[in-house]
Amino acid sequence: MANEQYTLAMIGAGPASLYATEVLAGEGHQVVILNRDIKPGGLAEFGIYPTKQKMKMGLRAYFRRILSRENVHYFGNVTVGEEADITLQQLRQVGFGARIVAVGAQGTKWLGLPGEDAESVFHAKDLVYHYNHLPPFSEREYPVGDNVVVVGMGNVCMDIVNWMVCEKQVDTVTAVARRGPAERKFTRKEFKIVSGALDEEAIHAELDRVGSAMEAIGQEPEEHREALLRYVDEPLERCSDTDFRMRFLRRPVRIEVDDAGQVQGLVCEKTRLVEPDEPEGRAGIEPLGQYETIDCDTVVFAIGDAVEPALGLPLSKRGRDMFATVPQPWEKHPERPRYMAYDPDAQEPIWDTFLIGWARKASDGLVGKARKDAVRGCDEILAFLNGEFPVSPTGAEPFDQAMEGVEALLSEEAPKAVDYADVQRIEEMEKQEAKRRDVDEFKFASEAEMLRRLDRDQ
Ligand SMILES: Cc1cc2nc3c(=O)[nH]c(=O)nc-3n(C[C@H](O)[C@H](O)[C@H](O)COP(=O)(O)OP(=O)(O)OC[C@H]3O[C@@H](n4cnc5c(N)ncnc54)[C@H](O)[C@@H]3O)c2cc1C
Repeated sequence: MANEQYTLAMIGAGPASLYATEVLAGEGHQVVILNRDIKPGGLAEFGIYPTKQKMKMGLRAYFRRILSRENVHYFGNVTVGEEADITLQQLRQVGFGARIVAVGAQGTKWLGLPGEDAESVFHAKDLVYHYNHLPPFSEREYPVGDNVVVVGMGNVCMDIVNWMVCEKQVDTVTAVARRGPAERKFTRKEFKIVSGALDEEAIHAELDRVGSAMEAIGQEPEEHREALLRYVDEPLERCSDTDFRMRFLRRPVRIEVDDAGQVQGLVCEKTRLVEPDEPEGRAGIEPLGQYETIDCDTVVFAIGDAVEPALGLPLSKRGRDMFATVPQPWEKHPERPRYMAYDPDAQEPIWDTFLIGWARKASDGLVGKARKDAVRGCDEILAFLNGEFPVSPTGAEPFDQAMEGVEALLSEEAPKAVDYADVQRIEEMEKQEAKRRDVDEFKFASEAEMLRRLDRDQ
């Protein structure tokens, strides 16, 4: 048991938040969760591919148990940030023992290429939110053409390919990477799902083309040919005639857009592989000053996410897409990253504020990794609450008073907040609707609709 029980502000309700809530509530603290979306789950609900029903149901059931605890208080439809419903500063004034930021990586990373603002150029996350029915993305149109290029070669790219193949049924979808086949980042499991769509001839031709560049730095092209074509004869599903291709050693530099604003192609600079900087590291690339245009009418960037600076925490000087955390190691676990937020200008820790999951490190792995990060982060949070750092929780109020403050703040700043009982009502209505329509799953398309169903639309 912790030395003293505090009321804690948990911002966000994705996997990192909920696994941390499990630990902190388990230590007897009261956890108040403030979540932007009406429903909890974050990317476990609105990111993981819709057909992975078993996994999603398992996570939902697990999270439901955490959210149903007496000392866990959920408020959805509440955005925290500088220009949002509630600021971090307002949360401090309520009298929380600590503020835990588990908002994921809500910013989008772009390459800043000419043509990126054309109509059929998208960030993968927007499409992912759209097909996972997250309002307001679920309400918008994302016009996709016949020939799609996806920039990036990780698991999110594979999800987008899967959607293009099975849902959009486009003619071609081409994944483009600056590096070679050996540097691909997707896992076998994700690749197997889309392998049925692989254009075998095109993959052979591409591997023939990049083979000598790979050999030049000691890589074995045949090993990667075998890995890339391993599943073509035993695909998990073959849902359309879409051809899935890959282009390696291509660095996107410009999107060709015609006078009518239509995307015509992705211009790439050819690259070659160079030895990694460190042993076992990833190969580097060197641009060659020669260009090639990949014809397409749609471009999707699947190059990872960044944090959203509007949250109001200082950014790291090391990388603009991360919030700053204390740079010094923690004596108790010097091998671990730090979780406590930091003000690089003042060179001071922000003692009562912690970052966990993708909010600490954007696009870092699967749910299991977010869980590990959250649980480790809790060690540092608990150490702070237990007075193990030079500054202890200041201004923390007893639970009843803190909760009074939260409720006053919500009724003033976020009057359409929903609690967990409301979420369960929405889920029940969606279940009934799915039954009525005889479909596996039904989700209301807009927040307005959910609020209307809860009689909260005034
Ligand atoms: C396309 C895609 C597919 C994936 N597929 C898989 C998979 O198949 N298997 C797997 O294990 N992992 C998968 N992952 C990874 C997994 O989703 C992440 O590891 C995990 O969700 C990260 O958890 P998180 O809690 O840090 O962030 P998130 O899941 O992003 O949660 C962030 C939470 O914060 C809330 N929030 C955001 N901003 C604010 C704010 N300003 N105020 C209040 N609340 C806010 C959001 O509403 C959300 O609830 C996938 C990820 C993506 C992007």
